[in-house]
Amino acid sequence: MKIAIMGGTFNPIHYGHLISAEQVRVGLGYNKILFVPSARPPHKSLPDMVSAEHRYQMVMLATADNSYFEVSRIELEREGPSYTIQTIKTLRKMYGPSTNLAWIIGADSLIEYKIWKDFDGVLEQCTMIATTRPNYDLQRVPLEIRNRVKTYKITGIDISATEIRRRIQSNVSIRYLVPDSVDSYINEHKLYT
Ligand code: ATP
Repeated sequence: MKIAIMGGTFNPIHYGHLISAEQVRVGLGYNKILFVPSARPPHKSLPDMVSAEHRYQMVMLATADNSYFEVSRIELEREGPSYTIQTIKTLRKMYGPSTNLAWIIGADSLIEYKIWKDFDGVLEQCTMIATTRPNYDLQRVPLEIRNRVKTYKITGIDISATEIRRRIQSNVSIRYLVPDSVDSYINEHKLYT
């Protein structure tokens, strides 16, 4: 069994996340992608962050039509900052030592490897897959770090949640940047306005 975890703030989830997850699944042969919305991301205290429950619901909507995608509430149900090391240790216990576990991150997150809590510990628990992302050059990451992760080239799509939130605030359409179901949810709950 090969499971790849896609962690993120998902504020909101967009096609950049979905493309990354699907291309890793197909290209590297994973049986399942587990989306793990971060309840309290330790390094992102954004004033425009909507509740973890809203972000979780949007991830559920965005992934509903892909039977290989699952969503976990593991970080929503835990107290305190959502550290990856804690999550991966819990998932490792849940799935056992024989499951091949990977953690997918975008190039921007690998570039920030120094701010991760116990980055080495995370690498001991799973394979890390760093996907390419426009405007984030993986060459900026020291070779000794790059050698310890798997880098994977995906279709470059320059979408960020920050840009989506900006558009909503300026009353500009986000159609085709997020699934329609997510767009409707944002409208219905008047998020990011
Ligand atoms: P924000 O703009 O609010 O910082 P974001 O768009 O970077 O958010 P996150 O929820 O922080 O989204 O990202 C979760 C994971 O998905 C991270 O590892 C990030 O690198 C990756 N990711 C986000 N957008 C893309 C994209 N367009 N292409 C590839 N990877 C992405």
